[in-house]
Amino acid sequence: MPNNASPVIHIAARCHSSVALMRASLRRFSLLLAGVFLLATCLLLYVSYRLEEAEEVKSLFYIKKAMEAIEDSAGSTVKDYAFWGDAYIHLHREVDTDWAFVRQNAGPTLYADFGFQGVFVVDGADRTVYSVIRGELESVEIADWLGQPIDGVVDQARAAAEYETSVTTVMNVDGMPAVIAAAALTPGTDPTVETDEGPESVIIFINVLDGDELEAIGADYGIRKLRVLAPNEVRSAAILPIGENGSAGTLHWDSENPGKRLLSVMLPMIGMAALIVLLMTWVLLRRTTLAARALDLSHTSLRNSQAALATSEQRFRDVAEASSDWIWEVDAQGRFTYLSERFQEVTGHSRDARIGTGIDELLRTETGTLSQWLRMPKHRPGISTQCSYIDHKGQTRITRLTARDMDGKGFRGTASDVTDEVEARRRIDYLSQHDALTGLPNRTRLQAFLDGKLKAAPTQDSPLVMLCLDLDRFKPVNDLLGHAAGDQVLNEVSGRLAECLRNGDLVARVGGDEFVLILTDVSSQDEVEALCGRLIKSIEQPVVMDEQEVFVSASIGIAMAPTDAREATELLRYADIALYEAKAAGRATWRFYAGDMNVRIIERRQLENDLRYAIKVGELRLHFQPRIRIADGVMMGAEALVRWRHPERGLIPPDTFIPIAEEAGLIAPLSDWVLHTACSSAKRWPEGVFVSVNLSSVEFQRGDVVKRVQNVLRETGFDPARLELELTESVMLEDATGALDVMRALKELGVRLTMDDFGTGYSSLGYLRSFPFDGLKIDRSFVNGLAENEDDKSIIQAIVGLGRALSLTVTAEGIETAEQLELLKAVHCDEGQGYFLSRPLDAEGFDALMASRKLGEQDPVIKFF
Ligand code: C2E
Ligand code: CA
Ligand code: CA
Repeated sequence: MPNNASPVIHIAARCHSSVALMRASLRRFSLLLAGVFLLATCLLLYVSYRLEEAEEVKSLFYIKKAMEAIEDSAGSTVKDYAFWGDAYIHLHREVDTDWAFVRQNAGPTLYADFGFQGVFVVDGADRTVYSVIRGELESVEIADWLGQPIDGVVDQARAAAEYETSVTTVMNVDGMPAVIAAAALTPGTDPTVETDEGPESVIIFINVLDGDELEAIGADYGIRKLRVLAPNEVRSAAILPIGENGSAGTLHWDSENPGKRLLSVMLPMIGMAALIVLLMTWVLLRRTTLAARALDLSHTSLRNSQAALATSEQRFRDVAEASSDWIWEVDAQGRFTYLSERFQEVTGHSRDARIGTGIDELLRTETGTLSQWLRMPKHRPGISTQCSYIDHKGQTRITRLTARDMDGKGFRGTASDVTDEVEARRRIDYLSQHDALTGLPNRTRLQAFLDGKLKAAPTQDSPLVMLCLDLDRFKPVNDLLGHAAGDQVLNEVSGRLAECLRNGDLVARVGGDEFVLILTDVSSQDEVEALCGRLIKSIEQPVVMDEQEVFVSASIGIAMAPTDAREATELLRYADIALYEAKAAGRATWRFYAGDMNVRIIERRQLENDLRYAIKVGELRLHFQPRIRIADGVMMGAEALVRWRHPERGLIPPDTFIPIAEEAGLIAPLSDWVLHTACSSAKRWPEGVFVSVNLSSVEFQRGDVVKRVQNVLRETGFDPARLELELTESVMLEDATGALDVMRALKELGVRLTMDDFGTGYSSLGYLRSFPFDGLKIDRSFVNGLAENEDDKSIIQAIVGLGRALSLTVTAEGIETAEQLELLKAVHCDEGQGYFLSRPLDAEGFDALMASRKLGEQDPVIKFF
């Protein structure tokens, strides 16, 4: 949802990076600081520059002043001497050395007191007439002493005399500035001295400013080391050119450098300050960065947790809306304070109406009220229970409730509708315990039931009775009428069985047509027998389907706990043995388990072993029973019937050992031996006499019958046309299409096929039509009652007619009387077999019979009548 997302985005944008923000402002602050320091430095530099400049101006001013003072002093000194009548007389009119020098009017004192190194008088003809050099009277031309002409100065001095003034100038003398003051000699204010005609003499005082003097002058004005700038000296401060255009040299001095001093003091201070500020900034930056980082972190985690919160809220909402769950909250009194929207959708009840009502009013558990359950301390952390409620349609729904304690303020939790799940589980449970077809309990349920009952330890007075019930003649129903019909019969039978039982008893279906019944509360064996009678009678009632009546029956084996066994498996086994006995006793009956039955089972197993041995060592014998053409008594062939003379038990009938051979997997070797013996025996018989061999449906199913028959024919070299195979209809019942293929293959070998025991099963006439039979044998049960039973007679008549219609040879079995033979002859039955004609005979007996009945050498026909 957008309004959920926006605060998150907002925070994200705002606190994108406090560190960055911090850094940016600090950078600005640092720049500002740097600017301030730069400005201060500039200002300082400027001030120092100005200071230097002012210092220079001031120094210059003072030096100029000093120079002027020196010049002025020299000028006024020379004026005093020049405008003096005596001097005019003694130095102009004539040079009176005595006056001037000796009497010291213009002599050595000028050097000693005033420092003039040179005192000269130049006459009107510009000749040096008087010269005192450093207080010593010497005769030297001024120009020579100065090293340069001085005419200009002299002339200026004469001109200046008019104004009663002197002239001064500065010249370079021997590299040193020399202050030259000159004035024309005049009588001055002396009224006694007359001014002469002609040019005046000029008196010249020369003060050569040597190094010491210059320094002294400078010192008077606070100028350090005032001196003449040496030609190679690097100027370190201002300079002052002196004389005409600096001709007298350049003055130079050491500056006080106030600016530099200021700089030297202030710059380090500013540097220090900058350093301190820098340091402080760095510390501040570090601290703030850390703080900002922490802030960022907390922002990030805040953002993350906000995002997580939003996601979790969304998830919660999605889940709450998508699931079948609804969410509830109750206060400490167990009254609803909150119900989610789904509540209404799921239960159909109004949320608003439910708020404030007790949870127990809506939901029920199987064990007390929900509020009790909630208050159970051991149940505190999120636990769940199953409860039910009535929805708005009045239907019971089941819900799984989870609950969580809200710190004593009540409870909250979810409620998931599990009605379908519970129903499905119940259904699965039911299915896993019941047979899908009949709805009866299955083996699993039986086991559980039995275990429960046996745990209760049944006594002899109140035993537990187990009946193993197996349907007789059910298989053909299934095979012939189809599985749907079979299912219908099973359903019907199941219903009938259940009807015969009392409450508390159990009937389970444990196999195709096998049932187990558990009875308790039975007082006597008679009671059990009565029940078995009722059960069989009930099952024997015809099952009607599609205008057809199906008849089945049942055999029952009975075992009892604790008499026979105390354990379920044993009990089952014993009941099964009893069932076997019941079936062996001719079906549609019941047998109680007896100890010797077990012995019989063991015997049977022994017999199995003996039979295996018998086949191997050749204990079996083959008997032959002639088959006679009823019309003229000619022997057409003989049926091979196997015999087993057990070394201890004597002759065992094939009806007993053939099923054993079938079950023990011995039927193929047995049958091979029969086929082989039959063919090799019959090979010696007269041409045209066939041998008929019985095939078991079990071996027929194995699929290698064709190969085996083929092998025997090849090995014995017997004419296939003389071999007849007798099949019962069960061959076709087991696997109709597969049987058809095998039969066709057998026919291709050239052998004949006959349907044995016709009429006993459900022999559909359709089989006769669609399977390649050459003949059929009417079961001896029909022949038996032929004389007395009109029905049987008409049945045989019908079968003969049918056989004729289908071009099948019809044989009647079990002819025991002449009457039966007559009757069969009357209905034109093709062939006959039976004790009346001949019992099955061993090989010698059969050979003897043939010899006795043989008609003649040329005509090898064996005739019985
Ligand atoms: P089946 O194929 O119906 O054989 C005929 C049975 O009827 C034979 O019993 C025979 O002795 C008996 N019988 C013949 N005439 C009469 C009579 O007039 N009255 C009476 N009551 N019985 C008569 P047997 O030899 O005991 O054979 C029983 C069954 O054993 C046979 O019934 C056949 O199904 C099976 N059997 C016998 N020999 C073989 C064999 O080699 N292989 C196979 N697979 N089954 C065999
Ligand atoms: Ca037979
Ligand atoms: Ca038969």
